[in-house]
Amino acid sequence: MAVVLRLCKHCETPFPSKTQRALYCSPTCNKEYHRNKKRQLAELEVVNVTPTEETTMKENQKQQDTIERLRAFIAKHCHCMTPLEVSEELNVPLFAVKRFWPNPSR
Ligand SMILES: [Zn+2]
Repeated sequence: MAVVLRLCKHCETPFPSKTQRALYCSPTCNKEYHRNKKRQLAELEVVNVTPTEETTMKENQKQQDTIERLRAFIAKHCHCMTPLEVSEELNVPLFAVKRFWPNPSR
């Protein structure tokens, strides 16, 4: 019977195999290999489930909405209100109001 040397799929140690199909040097390696694979898949799923990008996009959208509202409000009221009044009215920091104010007050 021909004995071939094969590389264990798990520990990569060459081992003599009587069959062409043996993939692991021992049942332990076989078990370990599948356990690791399962764990890697589980970790991958956790990463996929975490909606990091979506959350960031929502946050950006929220910030964008606030800026748009602030801009519209300033365009409407910059002639009759001061930046401080707008800041208090919209509950927005004064420096943010001043950033969008058409004629920066000194
Ligand atoms: Zn092995």
